[in-house]
Amino acid sequence: MSLFRPDVDRIDGYVPGEQPQDDGWIKLNTNENPYPPSPRVAAAVAAACAGRLNIYPDPLASRFRKATANLFNVDPDWILPANGSDENLTILNRTFVDSGELVTYPYPSYILYETLADLQGAAHERLQLNADWSWDIDRVRPQIERSKLVLVPNPNSPSGNCWAHESIAELVPPNGIFVLDEAYGDFRDEPHRGEILHTDVGRRIVITRTLSKSYSLAGIRFGFAIAHPDLISGMRKVKDSYNCNTLSLAAATAAIEDQDWMLESRRRIVATRARLTVALREIGFHVVDSQANFVWTTHPERSHQQIYEALKARKVLVRFMKFADVLGGSELTGLRITVGTDDETDGFLQILREILQ
Ligand SMILES: *Cc1c(COP(=O)(O)O)cnc(C)c1O
Repeated sequence: MSLFRPDVDRIDGYVPGEQPQDDGWIKLNTNENPYPPSPRVAAAVAAACAGRLNIYPDPLASRFRKATANLFNVDPDWILPANGSDENLTILNRTFVDSGELVTYPYPSYILYETLADLQGAAHERLQLNADWSWDIDRVRPQIERSKLVLVPNPNSPSGNCWAHESIAELVPPNGIFVLDEAYGDFRDEPHRGEILHTDVGRRIVITRTLSKSYSLAGIRFGFAIAHPDLISGMRKVKDSYNCNTLSLAAATAAIEDQDWMLESRRRIVATRARLTVALREIGFHVVDSQANFVWTTHPERSHQQIYEALKARKVLVRFMKFADVLGGSELTGLRITVGTDDETDGFLQILREILQ
């Protein structure tokens, strides 16, 4: 007899991307930023270490919330920091979804949503995307109407495409919460300042952001949610009192206060992304136009799994992905490739060309 809750017994658990612990890899598999964080981060962490680690951190993350609220033209009570964006996704499930209520998300997209819904004992359904990654609003509307929580990554992963806010406003459930997971929001062609939160449906929208990607802090674990204080106040009851520690708060605050650094790193990644896209197309790959720090690519003839394995044998890691039962019932496979430095990208392309010969 199993001692686990049935919801835990039933699921496989989310499998994160590989994190090799030896050197020499070109690592393009988990959408980390190839550039270091702002030098202010190390200084702030050192100062925090020299300070008082014997007392609990600020449970309200006051300084972080103030700096972040400024960026989005809201008051600090619209901001909820978390131990990574993934923690905010857990908090959202625990705050808004009762067992048996419906959680929906586009498919193919971020697989963690399904795991979190399972752990919550929620019902869940996929909102099937068209083959060109666009929405058929009429098809998904009946599911949206029954949803308590709708989670949409924008830009989407693994595709990297970005939907205009006008085209997804109809995905806000009439009796539920709409989460815009903007893990890659800083890489969009036109970053926004939360205007959608001030529309008619804005009271039911939560935007989630992370410092893992655009701010180069995946190792620190820090994310935040932006929403009307009526929603944030409920989420705050659910989170651990001290969900962000003194060192991560110091790091995240220093990073968010150095916008110039983030924007310069973004500029480089966007330039390399354009080059990577052109180069892949030149050697016969199909590449979705990306507004994130990765590209989704497929080859009309070759096996994606074999390419992935051949790259891995030469110490290049990309993400091989397989989605069963996409619209039309078939299986979708492809490679998601993180935009690295120029050197990493050139090295990857060189090895890829050799493999294809
Ligand atoms: C990376 C990612 C996250 C998680 O961000 P963390 O802050 O590192 O937990 C959430 N959603 C999507 C779509 C992501 O790609």
